[in-house]
Amino acid sequence: MSPEGAVRSASSWNTGPWIEVADAEAVAALGALQHALGHLQTQASQSHAPSHTSSHAPSHAPSHTPSHASSPLIDPPDIHVFIDSQAAIQRLQGRGNAIAQQTKDIAKHMTERYGARIHITWCPGHERINGNEIADQQAKLGLKKPISPKAYVSISRLRGLARQEAIKQWRQIHHRPGRIGIGKHYGRLTQDLGAYTTRPHKALKAFTKHDLSAYIQLKTGIGSLRTHLYIIGKATDKDCNRCNSGLSQTTSHLLLDCKRYDSERKELNKALKGLPLTLQSLFCTGIGRQALASYISSTGICTTKWLRNRAE
Ligand SMILES: [Zn+2]
Repeated sequence: MSPEGAVRSASSWNTGPWIEVADAEAVAALGALQHALGHLQTQASQSHAPSHTSSHAPSHAPSHTPSHASSPLIDPPDIHVFIDSQAAIQRLQGRGNAIAQQTKDIAKHMTERYGARIHITWCPGHERINGNEIADQQAKLGLKKPISPKAYVSISRLRGLARQEAIKQWRQIHHRPGRIGIGKHYGRLTQDLGAYTTRPHKALKAFTKHDLSAYIQLKTGIGSLRTHLYIIGKATDKDCNRCNSGLSQTTSHLLLDCKRYDSERKELNKALKGLPLTLQSLFCTGIGRQALASYISSTGICTTKWLRNRAE
């Protein structure tokens, strides 16, 4: 706020659905300041200083230090805005939102032009403050009004909600016994995985960007694997084209069986440090993921280059 303006109390920031309520209250406080500015302008032209005002949703109380001076420049007016929402006060102090910016601009103007002292004060609702009932009634009437075109919900807020919802659904699926809809292969692979997390495992740092893509393809069974290419009609059969076994080129074939990568698999076994060579070890443990990173890097399986060199 302005240098003289005092924002006295604002401690906690309510998040979640209250953000929109806080926005509405902040708009109300802005309205109150605009109203006060109108008063100041009228009074200045008549050489009478105004005393106080209040926003509609927040409580309304008489100013503690009403001013009765003839010139606002000699005895600057005190303007008290009482708000019963700490979140709204926080909103007004914030950066990057239009309401806060407008409020700051008005406060600055009032301070510089009229020497006003602006006090935005939090007070608990229904604090026996004269005007609170009126403010509540006005707020209820306001709800019946058509929605103001000024009210908006930011895209980032909507994105955040969509993201939260997606995470919630994924978590539910993850914890559901006998998970369905995520594919047999992937479901089997991740059954031993612990709690659901939205952060990548630290062992995944061992992967380069391209190798991580290969890791995801192997984990989901979707990508450069012949079994998948066959399903989507990009291959005439599912057979592994790296060995002559005639076996389907699945994730488990490439990681556990394919003769073409026997020497790399020896290293893989060593890197597993005693863990059994299974898909669960490779995809669900830290040591396994690290070992798999080296295996993918040395074999190049499921990378673009590997897919191109089919004849090798
Ligand atoms: Zn093979």
